Amino acid sequence: MKPTREELPSVSSAMEDWTPQEILRWAAETYGPKLAMATAFGAEGCAIIAMLSEITRDVYLFNLDTGYQFPETLETRQRLMDKYGLPVHLVGAEQSVEAMEAEHGGPIYDKNPDLCCHIRKVVPLAGAIKGYEAWISAIRRDQTPARANQPIVGWDKKFELVKVNPLANWTKKDVWNFILKNDVPYNPLHDQGYPSIGCWPCTRAIGAGDDDRAGRWAGTAKTECGLHILNNAAGKEKELVKL
Ligand code: SF4
Repeated sequence: MKPTREELPSVSSAMEDWTPQEILRWAAETYGPKLAMATAFGAEGCAIIAMLSEITRDVYLFNLDTGYQFPETLETRQRLMDKYGLPVHLVGAEQSVEAMEAEHGGPIYDKNPDLCCHIRKVVPLAGAIKGYEAWISAIRRDQTPARANQPIVGWDKKFELVKVNPLANWTKKDVWNFILKNDVPYNPLHDQGYPSIGCWPCTRAIGAGDDDRAGRWAGTAKTECGLHILNNAAGKEKELVKL
């Protein structure tokens, strides 16, 4: 039975010691074809796709095809689809990269990355998940301090649907153990110093001791693309991107 919005915190608490597969099975059984997942084929997303392939064929998987993704990322999509037979749809922005750059006098990922992410990620995501009741995210609590308070299941106020974080309690080591043990296809850029991979203009390789997302929008105050509303340490909601 689908929990009400008010019941979600207690449902989430009850799942604290569940495995990611158990959480995904619950999500698939609870929301059926109304379950979606956006993926940029990070290590966590690849692991979740492999898990889902043994749980459901109904989930709507999609990638926000910004027009600025690495070729290696798109090749990873193909390898995952070939291995698991689950389609991962490409969802693009209404405006092509060429049209957007012409309108703004050139690329805006350096001058105004929030607007760029809004046009190429946030608006297409809002359209893609319209009509769905729940979406799966690959967030881990140990990725950044800002992600540390994410529930396993919660209400996503920004997009108005249930958000499921099956890997909330997993570590990076857990993810890579799963990938290597199960021979899950992953982005080869991970082996070249890129633990977190987004669009090529906004992703850098990182150094030893940096946190995994330090290479995203490096040298700017931006840390998130606007897809996730996160909770700060005081439990207050904090939207890290102003749209
Ligand atoms: S990550 Fe960079 S290139 Fe990609 S949509 Fe955001 S600002 Fe634009």
